[in-house]
Amino acid sequence: MNHESTAALTNAFREAFGADPDGLWAAPGRANLIGEHTDYNDGFVLPFAIAHSARVAVRRTRTAALRIAGRQEVAGVRAVEIDPARLSPAHAGEVPGWSRYVAGAVWALNAWAESAGHASLLAAGEGYDVVLDSDVPIGAGLSSSAAIECAVVTALAELAGLEVSRETLVLIAQRAENEYVGAPTGILDQSASLLGQSGAALFLDCRSRASRPVPLALEEAGLEILAIDTKVSHAHESGGYGQLRAACEAGAAGLGVQALRDVSVGELEAAQGRLAPEVFARVKHIVTENQRVLDTVAELEAERVEWAEVGRLLTASHASMRDDFGNSCPEMDVAVASAVRAGAHGARMTGGGFGGTAIALVPAGACAEVTAAVEQAFAQRGFTAPSIFPIRPSVGARRLAG
Ligand code: ADP
Ligand code: MG
Repeated sequence: MNHESTAALTNAFREAFGADPDGLWAAPGRANLIGEHTDYNDGFVLPFAIAHSARVAVRRTRTAALRIAGRQEVAGVRAVEIDPARLSPAHAGEVPGWSRYVAGAVWALNAWAESAGHASLLAAGEGYDVVLDSDVPIGAGLSSSAAIECAVVTALAELAGLEVSRETLVLIAQRAENEYVGAPTGILDQSASLLGQSGAALFLDCRSRASRPVPLALEEAGLEILAIDTKVSHAHESGGYGQLRAACEAGAAGLGVQALRDVSVGELEAAQGRLAPEVFARVKHIVTENQRVLDTVAELEAERVEWAEVGRLLTASHASMRDDFGNSCPEMDVAVASAVRAGAHGARMTGGGFGGTAIALVPAGACAEVTAAVEQAFAQRGFTAPSIFPIRPSVGARRLAG
Protein backbone atom coordinates (compact mmCIF):
# COMPACT_ATOMS: atom_id res chain seq x y z
CA MET A 1 0.00 0.00 0.00
CA ASN A 2 1.56 3.28 -1.02
CA HIS A 3 1.77 6.44 1.04
CA GLU A 4 -1.08 8.10 -0.82
CA SER A 5 -3.63 5.44 0.00
CA THR A 6 -2.47 5.34 3.65
CA ALA A 7 -3.14 9.07 3.84
CA ALA A 8 -6.51 8.61 2.13
CA LEU A 9 -7.52 5.99 4.70
CA THR A 10 -6.45 8.21 7.60
CA ASN A 11 -8.43 11.09 6.10
CA ALA A 12 -11.49 8.90 5.65
CA PHE A 13 -11.22 7.92 9.31
CA ARG A 14 -11.04 11.58 10.39
CA GLU A 15 -14.06 12.38 8.27
CA ALA A 16 -16.08 9.49 9.65
CA PHE A 17 -15.16 9.82 13.33
CA GLY A 18 -13.65 13.29 13.79
CA ALA A 19 -10.39 11.98 15.27
CA ASP A 20 -7.15 10.26 14.31
CA PRO A 21 -7.02 6.46 14.24
CA ASP A 22 -4.71 4.68 16.70
CA GLY A 23 -3.19 2.85 13.74
CA LEU A 24 -3.61 1.27 10.33
CA TRP A 25 -3.35 -2.44 9.55
CA ALA A 26 -3.44 -4.43 6.32
CA ALA A 27 -4.18 -8.06 5.54
CA PRO A 28 -3.92 -9.48 2.03
CA GLY A 29 -6.18 -11.50 -0.16
CA ARG A 30 -4.77 -14.76 -1.47
CA ALA A 31 -4.52 -17.01 -4.46
CA ASN A 32 -4.30 -20.73 -4.02
CA LEU A 33 -1.47 -22.07 -6.17
CA ILE A 34 -2.85 -25.59 -5.88
CA GLY A 35 -4.97 -27.69 -3.50
CA GLU A 36 -8.63 -26.89 -4.08
CA HIS A 37 -11.36 -28.03 -1.68
CA THR A 38 -8.77 -30.14 0.09
CA ASP A 39 -8.80 -27.89 3.18
CA TYR A 40 -12.02 -29.15 4.72
CA ASN A 41 -11.01 -32.72 3.85
CA ASP A 42 -8.06 -32.48 6.29
CA GLY A 43 -5.75 -32.27 3.27
CA PHE A 44 -2.98 -30.10 1.84
CA VAL A 45 -3.10 -26.62 0.32
CA LEU A 46 -0.49 -24.27 -1.12
CA PRO A 47 -1.80 -20.69 -1.16
CA PHE A 48 0.12 -17.43 -1.27
CA ALA A 49 -0.78 -13.96 -0.03
CA ILE A 50 -1.11 -11.34 -2.78
CA ALA A 51 -0.34 -7.62 -2.74
CA HIS A 52 -4.03 -6.68 -2.90
CA SER A 53 -5.21 -6.16 0.66
CA ALA A 54 -7.91 -5.01 3.04
CA ARG A 55 -6.83 -2.11 5.22
CA VAL A 56 -8.41 -0.93 8.42
CA ALA A 57 -7.93 2.25 10.41
CA VAL A 58 -8.93 1.61 14.01
CA ARG A 59 -9.34 3.60 17.22
CA ARG A 60 -10.20 2.38 20.68
CA THR A 61 -12.91 4.63 22.15
CA ARG A 62 -14.65 5.42 25.40
CA THR A 63 -18.03 4.93 23.78
CA ALA A 64 -19.92 1.68 24.21
CA ALA A 65 -20.27 1.00 20.50
CA LEU A 66 -18.64 -0.74 17.57
CA ARG A 67 -18.81 1.80 14.78
CA ILE A 68 -17.87 0.66 11.28
CA ALA A 69 -17.56 2.66 8.09
CA GLY A 70 -16.41 1.59 4.64
CA ARG A 71 -14.57 3.49 1.95
CA GLN A 72 -16.39 1.40 -0.63
CA GLU A 73 -20.16 1.33 -0.54
CA VAL A 74 -20.91 -2.35 -1.05
CA ALA A 75 -24.53 -3.41 -1.58
CA GLY A 76 -25.79 -0.09 -0.23
CA VAL A 77 -24.05 -0.33 3.15
CA ARG A 78 -21.67 2.48 4.14
CA ALA A 79 -21.71 2.90 7.92
CA VAL A 80 -23.03 0.82 10.81
CA GLU A 81 -23.18 1.15 14.61
CA ILE A 82 -23.49 -1.95 16.78
CA ASP A 83 -24.40 -2.14 20.46
CA PRO A 84 -21.76 -4.37 22.15
CA ALA A 85 -24.57 -6.12 24.03
CA ARG A 86 -25.84 -7.40 20.69
CA LEU A 87 -22.47 -8.54 19.34
CA SER A 88 -23.11 -12.27 19.16
CA PRO A 89 -23.97 -14.59 16.28
CA ALA A 90 -27.54 -14.70 17.61
CA HIS A 91 -27.86 -11.05 16.55
CA ALA A 92 -25.78 -11.26 13.36
CA GLY A 93 -28.96 -11.01 11.32
CA GLU A 94 -29.37 -7.41 12.51
CA VAL A 95 -25.95 -6.45 11.11
CA PRO A 96 -26.15 -5.43 7.47
CA GLY A 97 -24.11 -6.79 4.58
CA TRP A 98 -20.35 -6.59 4.61
CA SER A 99 -20.13 -5.09 8.10
CA ARG A 100 -20.79 -8.64 9.34
CA TYR A 101 -17.22 -9.58 8.39
CA VAL A 102 -15.92 -6.80 10.64
CA ALA A 103 -18.40 -7.40 13.47
CA GLY A 104 -17.82 -11.15 13.27
CA ALA A 105 -14.07 -10.69 13.60
CA VAL A 106 -14.53 -8.45 16.65
CA TRP A 107 -16.96 -10.94 18.20
CA ALA A 108 -14.67 -13.94 17.57
CA LEU A 109 -11.57 -12.19 18.94
CA ASN A 110 -13.52 -11.05 21.98
CA ALA A 111 -14.87 -14.54 22.56
CA TRP A 112 -11.32 -15.91 22.43
CA ALA A 113 -10.05 -13.19 24.80
CA GLU A 114 -12.76 -13.89 27.35
CA SER A 115 -12.29 -17.65 27.16
CA ALA A 116 -8.51 -17.22 27.61
CA GLY A 117 -9.08 -15.18 30.77
CA HIS A 118 -8.32 -11.75 29.30
CA ALA A 119 -10.44 -8.66 29.81
CA SER A 120 -13.34 -8.24 27.42
CA LEU A 121 -12.49 -6.09 24.40
CA LEU A 122 -15.80 -4.36 24.82
CA ALA A 123 -15.86 -3.79 28.55
CA ALA A 124 -18.54 -1.41 29.81
CA GLY A 125 -18.17 2.00 28.21
CA GLU A 126 -15.56 0.99 25.65
CA GLY A 127 -15.71 0.45 21.95
CA TYR A 128 -13.92 0.64 18.62
CA ASP A 129 -14.20 2.78 15.52
CA VAL A 130 -13.19 1.05 12.28
CA VAL A 131 -12.85 2.29 8.71
CA LEU A 132 -12.39 -0.40 6.06
CA ASP A 133 -10.74 0.03 2.68
CA SER A 134 -9.88 -2.79 0.30
CA ASP A 135 -8.58 -3.34 -3.20
CA VAL A 136 -9.11 -7.10 -3.18
CA PRO A 137 -11.64 -7.79 -5.95
CA ILE A 138 -14.92 -8.86 -4.36
CA GLY A 139 -16.29 -12.33 -4.98
CA ALA A 140 -13.47 -13.07 -7.44
CA GLY A 141 -12.04 -16.01 -5.51
CA LEU A 142 -9.15 -13.96 -4.09
CA SER A 143 -10.69 -13.95 -0.63
CA SER A 144 -11.70 -10.37 -0.01
CA SER A 145 -13.68 -11.69 2.99
CA ALA A 146 -10.77 -13.29 4.85
CA ALA A 147 -8.67 -10.19 4.15
CA ILE A 148 -11.20 -8.12 6.11
CA GLU A 149 -11.42 -10.58 9.03
CA CYS A 150 -7.64 -10.90 9.25
CA ALA A 151 -7.06 -7.14 9.14
CA VAL A 152 -9.58 -6.63 11.94
CA VAL A 153 -8.31 -9.37 14.26
CA THR A 154 -4.69 -8.28 13.74
CA ALA A 155 -5.56 -4.67 14.53
CA LEU A 156 -7.70 -5.34 17.58
CA ALA A 157 -5.37 -7.96 19.04
CA GLU A 158 -2.57 -5.40 18.95
CA LEU A 159 -4.69 -2.51 20.25
CA ALA A 160 -6.04 -4.61 23.11
CA GLY A 161 -2.53 -5.84 23.94
CA LEU A 162 -3.48 -9.50 23.51
CA GLU A 163 -0.65 -12.01 23.25
CA VAL A 164 -2.05 -14.25 20.57
CA SER A 165 -0.16 -16.20 17.94
CA ARG A 166 -0.80 -15.85 14.24
CA GLU A 167 -1.93 -19.49 14.17
CA THR A 168 -4.59 -18.73 16.76
CA LEU A 169 -5.67 -15.61 14.89
CA VAL A 170 -6.26 -17.87 11.87
CA LEU A 171 -8.79 -19.89 13.86
CA ILE A 172 -10.40 -16.77 15.31
CA ALA A 173 -10.86 -15.23 11.85
CA GLN A 174 -12.20 -18.53 10.52
CA ARG A 175 -14.68 -18.67 13.38
CA ALA A 176 -15.94 -15.21 12.38
CA GLU A 177 -16.64 -16.46 8.86
CA ASN A 178 -18.14 -19.80 9.97
CA GLU A 179 -20.20 -18.84 12.97
CA TYR A 180 -21.00 -15.18 12.46
CA VAL A 181 -21.22 -14.74 8.69
CA GLY A 182 -22.38 -18.32 8.23
CA ALA A 183 -20.01 -19.43 5.46
CA PRO A 184 -18.65 -22.95 6.15
CA THR A 185 -15.10 -22.34 4.90
CA GLY A 186 -11.84 -23.98 5.99
CA ILE A 187 -8.61 -22.35 7.24
CA LEU A 188 -6.94 -21.83 3.87
CA ASP A 189 -7.83 -18.18 3.29
CA GLN A 190 -7.07 -16.93 6.78
CA SER A 191 -3.81 -18.91 6.94
CA ALA A 192 -2.54 -17.35 3.73
CA SER A 193 -3.57 -13.87 4.83
CA LEU A 194 -2.00 -14.12 8.29
CA LEU A 195 1.03 -16.36 7.62
CA GLY A 196 1.96 -15.41 4.05
CA GLN A 197 5.50 -14.36 3.23
CA SER A 198 6.97 -12.40 0.36
CA GLY A 199 8.37 -14.66 -2.38
CA ALA A 200 6.89 -17.83 -0.91
CA ALA A 201 3.78 -19.94 -0.90
CA LEU A 202 2.46 -21.49 2.31
CA PHE A 203 2.35 -25.28 2.46
CA LEU A 204 -0.36 -26.06 4.95
CA ASP A 205 -1.48 -29.38 6.34
CA CYS A 206 -5.09 -28.67 7.24
CA ARG A 207 -5.24 -31.63 9.64
CA SER A 208 -2.27 -30.86 11.87
CA ARG A 209 -2.34 -27.17 10.87
CA ALA A 210 1.44 -27.36 10.50
CA SER A 211 2.68 -25.00 7.83
CA ARG A 212 5.91 -23.94 6.22
CA PRO A 213 6.90 -21.47 3.54
CA VAL A 214 7.82 -22.96 0.18
CA PRO A 215 9.93 -20.81 -2.14
CA LEU A 216 8.01 -19.39 -5.07
CA ALA A 217 10.81 -17.41 -6.64
CA LEU A 218 9.04 -16.22 -9.75
CA GLU A 219 11.14 -13.18 -10.49
CA GLU A 220 14.44 -15.08 -10.47
CA ALA A 221 12.92 -17.60 -12.85
CA GLY A 222 11.61 -14.91 -15.21
CA LEU A 223 8.01 -15.86 -14.51
CA GLU A 224 4.76 -14.15 -13.64
CA ILE A 225 1.51 -15.45 -12.28
CA LEU A 226 -1.37 -13.78 -14.06
CA ALA A 227 -4.73 -13.56 -12.34
CA ILE A 228 -7.60 -13.83 -14.79
CA ASP A 229 -10.75 -12.53 -13.11
CA THR A 230 -13.51 -14.06 -15.21
CA LYS A 231 -16.10 -11.69 -13.69
CA VAL A 232 -18.31 -14.67 -13.02
CA SER A 233 -19.25 -14.20 -9.39
CA HIS A 234 -19.71 -16.99 -6.89
CA ALA A 235 -21.75 -17.05 -3.69
CA HIS A 236 -20.31 -19.22 -0.92
CA GLU A 237 -23.24 -18.98 1.36
CA SER A 238 -25.60 -20.80 -0.93
CA GLY A 239 -25.64 -23.69 -3.34
CA GLY A 240 -22.65 -25.44 -4.81
CA TYR A 241 -20.04 -25.14 -2.09
CA GLY A 242 -22.25 -26.75 0.55
CA GLN A 243 -23.24 -29.56 -1.80
CA LEU A 244 -19.62 -30.34 -2.64
CA ARG A 245 -18.73 -30.41 1.05
CA ALA A 246 -21.61 -32.78 1.69
CA ALA A 247 -20.47 -35.06 -1.16
CA CYS A 248 -16.96 -35.20 0.33
CA GLU A 249 -18.39 -36.08 3.73
CA ALA A 250 -20.55 -38.77 2.14
CA GLY A 251 -17.46 -40.13 0.38
CA ALA A 252 -15.46 -40.30 3.61
CA ALA A 253 -18.36 -41.97 5.42
CA GLY A 254 -18.82 -44.46 2.56
CA LEU A 255 -15.15 -45.41 2.73
CA GLY A 256 -15.09 -45.54 6.51
CA VAL A 257 -12.36 -42.92 6.92
CA GLN A 258 -12.27 -39.87 9.12
CA ALA A 259 -11.62 -37.60 6.14
CA LEU A 260 -10.67 -37.97 2.47
CA ARG A 261 -7.11 -37.11 3.48
CA ASP A 262 -6.91 -40.72 4.63
CA VAL A 263 -7.41 -42.12 1.12
CA SER A 264 -4.38 -42.52 -1.18
CA VAL A 265 -4.31 -42.45 -4.97
CA GLY A 266 -3.54 -46.19 -4.94
CA GLU A 267 -6.76 -46.87 -3.03
CA LEU A 268 -9.00 -45.08 -5.52
CA GLU A 269 -9.64 -48.06 -7.75
CA ALA A 270 -11.05 -50.09 -4.90
CA ALA A 271 -13.09 -47.11 -3.71
CA GLN A 272 -14.86 -46.77 -7.02
CA GLY A 273 -17.08 -49.79 -6.55
CA ARG A 274 -18.13 -48.68 -3.07
CA LEU A 275 -19.45 -45.22 -3.94
CA ALA A 276 -22.17 -43.71 -6.11
CA PRO A 277 -20.59 -42.43 -9.37
CA GLU A 278 -21.00 -38.74 -8.51
CA VAL A 279 -19.60 -39.13 -5.00
CA PHE A 280 -16.68 -41.13 -6.40
CA ALA A 281 -15.88 -38.36 -8.87
CA ARG A 282 -15.74 -35.81 -6.02
CA VAL A 283 -13.57 -38.17 -3.96
CA LYS A 284 -11.23 -38.73 -6.90
CA HIS A 285 -10.61 -35.00 -7.23
CA ILE A 286 -9.76 -34.58 -3.55
CA VAL A 287 -7.49 -37.62 -3.42
CA THR A 288 -5.56 -36.77 -6.59
CA GLU A 289 -5.44 -33.08 -5.66
CA ASN A 290 -3.74 -33.85 -2.35
CA GLN A 291 -1.08 -35.76 -4.28
CA ARG A 292 -0.67 -32.88 -6.74
CA VAL A 293 -0.03 -30.49 -3.84
CA LEU A 294 2.69 -32.79 -2.48
CA ASP A 295 4.20 -33.11 -5.97
CA THR A 296 4.16 -29.33 -6.44
CA VAL A 297 5.87 -28.75 -3.09
CA ALA A 298 8.54 -31.34 -3.95
CA GLU A 299 9.13 -29.61 -7.28
CA LEU A 300 9.33 -26.11 -5.76
CA GLU A 301 11.74 -27.31 -3.08
CA ALA A 302 13.98 -29.11 -5.59
CA GLU A 303 17.40 -27.66 -6.27
CA ARG A 304 16.42 -26.95 -9.85
CA VAL A 305 12.70 -26.24 -10.30
CA GLU A 306 11.14 -27.63 -13.46
CA TRP A 307 8.56 -24.92 -14.03
CA ALA A 308 7.00 -26.80 -16.92
CA GLU A 309 6.25 -29.60 -14.46
CA VAL A 310 4.71 -27.14 -11.97
CA GLY A 311 2.58 -25.84 -14.82
CA ARG A 312 1.51 -29.34 -15.76
CA LEU A 313 0.35 -29.96 -12.20
CA LEU A 314 -1.69 -26.74 -12.23
CA THR A 315 -3.42 -27.65 -15.48
CA ALA A 316 -4.07 -31.19 -14.22
CA SER A 317 -5.68 -29.68 -11.12
CA HIS A 318 -7.98 -27.66 -13.33
CA ALA A 319 -8.94 -30.67 -15.43
CA SER A 320 -9.76 -32.53 -12.23
CA MET A 321 -12.10 -29.76 -11.07
CA ARG A 322 -13.69 -29.50 -14.49
CA ASP A 323 -14.18 -33.22 -15.05
CA ASP A 324 -14.50 -34.73 -11.56
CA PHE A 325 -15.34 -32.09 -8.99
CA GLY A 326 -17.83 -30.17 -11.13
CA ASN A 327 -17.01 -26.71 -9.79
CA SER A 328 -15.71 -25.07 -12.95
CA CYS A 329 -17.68 -23.06 -15.51
CA PRO A 330 -17.32 -22.36 -19.25
CA GLU A 331 -15.54 -19.03 -18.72
CA MET A 332 -12.95 -20.72 -16.49
CA ASP A 333 -12.33 -23.54 -18.93
CA VAL A 334 -11.84 -21.05 -21.77
CA ALA A 335 -9.48 -18.93 -19.64
CA VAL A 336 -7.33 -21.94 -18.75
CA ALA A 337 -7.27 -23.48 -22.23
CA SER A 338 -6.51 -20.24 -24.05
CA ALA A 339 -3.78 -19.24 -21.55
CA VAL A 340 -2.03 -22.59 -21.95
CA ARG A 341 -2.36 -22.50 -25.72
CA ALA A 342 -0.78 -19.03 -25.79
CA GLY A 343 2.30 -20.08 -23.84
CA ALA A 344 1.46 -20.41 -20.13
CA HIS A 345 3.28 -23.30 -18.42
CA GLY A 346 -0.06 -24.13 -16.82
CA ALA A 347 -3.25 -22.61 -15.48
CA ARG A 348 -6.13 -23.40 -13.16
CA MET A 349 -9.12 -21.97 -11.44
CA THR A 350 -8.19 -20.76 -7.94
CA GLY A 351 -10.65 -20.51 -5.06
CA GLY A 352 -13.89 -22.30 -4.35
CA GLY A 353 -15.10 -22.30 -7.91
CA PHE A 354 -18.22 -21.66 -9.98
CA GLY A 355 -16.43 -18.61 -11.33
CA GLY A 356 -13.93 -16.24 -9.82
CA THR A 357 -10.30 -16.11 -10.85
CA ALA A 358 -7.92 -18.36 -12.77
CA ILE A 359 -4.17 -18.21 -12.31
CA ALA A 360 -1.71 -18.82 -15.11
CA LEU A 361 2.01 -19.45 -14.69
CA VAL A 362 3.57 -17.52 -17.55
CA PRO A 363 7.11 -16.72 -18.76
CA ALA A 364 7.35 -12.94 -18.25
CA GLY A 365 7.98 -12.42 -21.95
CA ALA A 366 4.73 -14.17 -22.89
CA CYS A 367 2.39 -12.19 -20.59
CA ALA A 368 1.18 -9.83 -23.32
CA GLU A 369 0.48 -12.71 -25.67
CA VAL A 370 -1.36 -14.77 -23.04
CA THR A 371 -3.42 -11.74 -21.98
CA ALA A 372 -4.40 -10.97 -25.57
CA ALA A 373 -5.26 -14.59 -26.28
CA VAL A 374 -7.55 -14.89 -23.24
CA GLU A 375 -9.25 -11.58 -24.01
CA GLN A 376 -9.79 -12.64 -27.59
CA ALA A 377 -11.19 -16.03 -26.62
CA PHE A 378 -13.66 -14.35 -24.25
CA ALA A 379 -14.72 -11.82 -26.88
CA GLN A 380 -15.25 -14.56 -29.46
CA ARG A 381 -17.66 -16.37 -27.16
CA GLY A 382 -19.50 -13.23 -26.09
CA PHE A 383 -18.30 -13.51 -22.46
CA THR A 384 -17.89 -10.40 -20.31
CA ALA A 385 -14.33 -9.08 -20.73
CA PRO A 386 -12.02 -10.54 -18.06
CA SER A 387 -9.69 -8.48 -15.92
CA ILE A 388 -6.10 -9.77 -16.13
CA PHE A 389 -3.30 -8.64 -13.84
CA PRO A 390 -0.09 -10.02 -12.32
CA ILE A 391 -0.09 -11.21 -8.70
CA ARG A 392 3.01 -11.88 -6.60
CA PRO A 393 3.56 -13.80 -3.37
CA SER A 394 3.46 -11.04 -0.76
CA VAL A 395 3.77 -10.44 2.96
CA GLY A 396 0.89 -11.36 5.29
CA ALA A 397 -1.09 -9.21 7.74
CA ARG A 398 0.86 -6.33 9.24
CA ARG A 399 0.69 -2.89 10.81
CA LEU A 400 1.20 -0.06 8.34
CA ALA A 401 3.32 2.97 8.97
CA GLY A 402 1.47 6.28 9.04
P1 ADP B 1 -14.38 -13.55 -1.75
O1 ADP B 1 -13.90 -13.72 -0.36
O2 ADP B 1 -14.03 -14.68 -2.64
O3 ADP B 1 -14.00 -12.23 -2.36
P2 ADP B 1 -16.92 -13.67 -0.41
O4 ADP B 1 -18.31 -13.81 -0.91
O5 ADP B 1 -16.40 -14.66 0.54
O6 ADP B 1 -15.99 -13.55 -1.69
O7 ADP B 1 -16.76 -12.25 0.27
C1 ADP B 1 -17.16 -11.08 -0.41
C2 ADP B 1 -17.84 -10.15 0.56
O8 ADP B 1 -16.86 -9.47 1.37
C3 ADP B 1 -18.60 -9.02 -0.10
O9 ADP B 1 -19.89 -9.44 -0.48
C4 ADP B 1 -18.64 -7.98 1.00
O10 ADP B 1 -19.65 -8.31 1.95
C5 ADP B 1 -17.28 -8.16 1.66
N1 ADP B 1 -16.30 -7.20 1.12
C6 ADP B 1 -15.24 -7.47 0.34
N2 ADP B 1 -14.55 -6.34 0.04
C7 ADP B 1 -15.21 -5.32 0.62
C8 ADP B 1 -15.02 -3.89 0.68
N3 ADP B 1 -14.01 -3.28 0.04
N4 ADP B 1 -15.90 -3.17 1.40
C9 ADP B 1 -16.93 -3.77 2.03
N5 ADP B 1 -17.17 -5.09 1.99
C10 ADP B 1 -16.33 -5.87 1.32
MG1 MG C 1 -14.49 -15.35 0.89
